Amino acid sequence: MPSKRGDPFERLHTAVKGYVEGTDPYKGLAMDAEKQLFYWNTTFEILSGALICRFCFARQRLVDAEQKFLHAEGCQHSQPDSRPPWVALHDILDRSRG
Ligand SMILES: [Zn+2]
Repeated sequence: MPSKRGDPFERLHTAVKGYVEGTDPYKGLAMDAEKQLFYWNTTFEILSGALICRFCFARQRLVDAEQKFLHAEGCQHSQPDSRPPWVALHDILDRSRG
């Protein structure tokens, strides 16, 4: 059993990131919507209506969904060219409905 609660998420994140290496993880054609949602959820979660980065705890409300998500300085998930996470989540859910 892992000693720390965060370990499984970290391992999963690393594994899936490797799987889609060299591609945008949210656009990767190799991943189906369920895996993309799983990957998305290793970095972000929704709590009390706000989207939160699991690593730096930066948050964004739904009304700001089109805005750039501002991670805390030094957060490993800060990717300047990535789509806003609300938008990425929307695309994943759209895809899952066909
Ligand atoms: Zn972050």
